[in-house]
Amino acid sequence: MKRQFPRLIINLSRLRQNMLHVTDLCRQSGIQVCGVIKGCGGLPTIARLFRLCGASELGSSRLEQIISCHEAGIPGPYLLLRIPMLSELEEVVRWCDTSLQSELSVLNALEEVCQRLNSTHRVIVMADLGDLREGFWNHDEMVDVCVHVEKHLPHVHLAGIGVNLGCYGSIQPTADKMHSLLTIAHHVEARIGRKLEVISGGASSSYTLVHWGTMPAGINHLRIGETVLNAHDLPYVWKIPNMGLHPDTMVLQAEVVEIKTKPTYPVGNIIIDAFGNKPTYVDRGFRKRCIVAIGRADVGDVEQLIPRDKGITVLGGSSDHCLLDIQDCKRNLQVGDIVEFLLSYPNMLYATARNDLPLHFTEDNGEDPELA
Ligand SMILES: *Cc1c(COP(=O)(O)O)cnc(C)c1O
Repeated sequence: MKRQFPRLIINLSRLRQNMLHVTDLCRQSGIQVCGVIKGCGGLPTIARLFRLCGASELGSSRLEQIISCHEAGIPGPYLLLRIPMLSELEEVVRWCDTSLQSELSVLNALEEVCQRLNSTHRVIVMADLGDLREGFWNHDEMVDVCVHVEKHLPHVHLAGIGVNLGCYGSIQPTADKMHSLLTIAHHVEARIGRKLEVISGGASSSYTLVHWGTMPAGINHLRIGETVLNAHDLPYVWKIPNMGLHPDTMVLQAEVVEIKTKPTYPVGNIIIDAFGNKPTYVDRGFRKRCIVAIGRADVGDVEQLIPRDKGITVLGGSSDHCLLDIQDCKRNLQVGDIVEFLLSYPNMLYATARNDLPLHFTEDNGEDPELA
């Protein structure tokens, strides 16, 4: 069965403009961009666009996405972003040019796999600068491991070092953090007697420093997905003005299946919802609301969807329903009408990971879309 709705409209003109803007600004600061495709399910169309718009390589946390882009004929090189499982090293060497690394045992195993496959592989060794996800907490140990790769692992090439911020620990990338990374780089370079090729300063959140013109010289690589793919967090959550990015690269369309005026406070004993949470409700009397046929199974938290109509707010939802308050909406919505949403990052992640959500690629034709 081919479904019509919900569906995701992906605007390639706006994506292209976002990519060109970010890669241009980075290039002016001496920074190469790895175009990260994991936020959009690794879609080959978007991967190809990234490379055409100046990304020097493509990155994903998921090997499967890298393999399917390879198979779709998208030229790499490819960077694996999630530090690899021991059990996937053979595939890593076969399909990826470079990977992020943080364990000596994995690096040693990588050398063995490379020898067996008669191949070589590049690595970027990760430092933890406070975000507490991957990377070496002890930077002396990290320098020793880099030296070990350089001196004792002939099939593993130490391409550089990197950091990730703003993920688990929500730590803001700052010039200070970048200087800490550069200091580690200098220690490694002094010990191995050559320059590192890559000093990778982070993800979309580190792009803020490029935007503000405060990225320290020496950082020459960023791994950027989110801010180009749907440009929501930096302009709207961080509230950074004049990013010059389109926030509306992807629009989710869903169909109205019920419209009624109902109480806003549930009637009866409140226990827990379908997902085991005990939500709170505010009694605002009777209000007009509707149900659209989309749910958490499609997009994760429906509360993070951003309705495009003024006067519509998301009340909540369940696995297959999304409830909207439409009391203040100017449009006289009817059952069968289509409601449009912009997506937050998790919505985009889930929506593109499903293979039953129809995707439609479009281009702007002389319209003048908004910039954030
Ligand atoms: C996801 C990821 C990125 C890209 O993050 P965005 O916020 O999408 O720009 C970069 N580096 C690593 C290690 C990642 O896991």
